Amino acid sequence: MGVSLYVHVPFCKSKCMYCDFCSYSGFEKRMMEYTHALCNEILLSCKNKSIDTIFIGGGTPTYLSLEAWSLLKDTFKVLNIEKNIEFTVECNPGTADEEKLRLLREMGVNRISIGLQAWQDRLLKKLGRIHSRDEFVRSFNIIRSCGFENINVDVMFGLPSQSIPDFRDTLENVVKLHPEHISCYSLIVEEGTPFGEMYDKGRLELPEEEEERGMYEYAVSFLKKKGYMQYEISNFSREGFECRHNITYWKLREYIGCGAAAHSYMGGSRYRNEEDIEEYIKAVNSRGDAVVEKRQNTMEDDMEEFMFMGLRMIEGVNKSEFYRRFGTSMAEVYEEVINKYTEFGFLVEKGDNISLTEAGIQVSNTVMSDFILDRD
Ligand code: SF4
Repeated sequence: MGVSLYVHVPFCKSKCMYCDFCSYSGFEKRMMEYTHALCNEILLSCKNKSIDTIFIGGGTPTYLSLEAWSLLKDTFKVLNIEKNIEFTVECNPGTADEEKLRLLREMGVNRISIGLQAWQDRLLKKLGRIHSRDEFVRSFNIIRSCGFENINVDVMFGLPSQSIPDFRDTLENVVKLHPEHISCYSLIVEEGTPFGEMYDKGRLELPEEEEERGMYEYAVSFLKKKGYMQYEISNFSREGFECRHNITYWKLREYIGCGAAAHSYMGGSRYRNEEDIEEYIKAVNSRGDAVVEKRQNTMEDDMEEFMFMGLRMIEGVNKSEFYRRFGTSMAEVYEEVINKYTEFGFLVEKGDNISLTEAGIQVSNTVMSDFILDRD
């Protein structure tokens, strides 16, 4: 099996109020220089590797100019890409016209992930999104008409002044467009974002915890009724359209990350790239990579990550796989914590797998953090 490749494009037209991703607005003048460095990094890191999934995320990758995309296209042409690759590009409404989408198709992209977040224009405005609902629908239809048969739509819940009917409306309208995949994340208010500041000043009116839980429960049952299988805490898809790239992360498989702030997991080590665009360009141009931190995972690190990443998936973690990887049984390492949460009704054993129950998903952070090993 080949490796997965993540490519980061850190440009956005403007910054959303909640965003703490590595993305910058007002840096358009650096786009071409960045793309040149990015292509060099991709070529060097993927040399002699067979690539099984590619995910170009951001930022807003489709905000890149046609010229920049042509460079990327030439770069991907020389990589050793597996035949049945899953190749995703993230897109924001209004940033990809037919010409760009056609170029993406020609370079082998077969999955588009488009950010909507909410159906109501008043909420989109509050979030600082660059688009209206109508622009989202227009973009979705253009993507479909350009021949993309695998589309994900991102939506959010727990937004300021969002009601349960608002969220219902969002899901109902999204489902009417028949995307193959829907990601449904709750808003996390991050420090250092405009929402973070508003929250600290008591000026961010968020739904009550109970209400937010209601939104999540609604998503799970509504999407199931509509034929979307929940395969991860926040991800739902039609059968056969689970995101293979993200499953790589949850199954603790190897991946290469290229671009500013990208992370990699290769040969048992975790690497992190420079976040600053200019520093990133300088580093790649002078030494061929932009790694600023490298850490060799210990066996304990890998066991922990295997458990808490794997438990995000509805199928859970596989006991035989644990044994194959670590040469010791899951019970030997985690018997106490597994028994505790099984008794609480938060974990369940099904055949060779251990997974979170519906109640367990509601308290998943607490359960997962208990899989951190005592290193004394
Ligand atoms: S479009 Fe995405 S990456 Fe860009 S600012 Fe908004 S949330 Fe952040």
